[in-house]
Amino acid sequence: MDCIFCKIIAKEVPSDIIYEDEKAIVIKDIHPKAQVHLLIIPKKHIISVAQIEKSDKVLAGELILISKKIAEDRGLKGYKLVFNVGREGGQMVDHLHLHLLGGKVSEMP
Ligand code: AMP
Ligand code: ZN
Repeated sequence: MDCIFCKIIAKEVPSDIIYEDEKAIVIKDIHPKAQVHLLIIPKKHIISVAQIEKSDKVLAGELILISKKIAEDRGLKGYKLVFNVGREGGQMVDHLHLHLLGGKVSEMP
């Protein structure tokens, strides 16, 4: 499948991986829009929030819990979690991902 995030998950494309478990991976965004800009990506190829099924609700919750853990580990007192949904919502990569933005945020991701 021609999906950059699936290729990153398969380690076919290099990335800066900061966390990985059986369900998800966390990488540094290649074009950071904040001092801390991470992407929490489920290993399952779901296109976007618009395609999430009820059966994905545990996985969707895990993305938030991973974000919280990473923010705590990094001592972030506050941060933003952003899902862009669809082209008109600013989504450029069609594989679900949650942006974690901390520190000084320069622009919307
Ligand atoms: P979105 O616009 O919500 O689809 O966000 C996609 C994000 O993925 C953007 O912030 C990009 O900078 C980031 N991105 C695209 N390709 C890569 C890559 N190979 N490694 C890390 N981040 C990437
Ligand atoms: Zn994918």
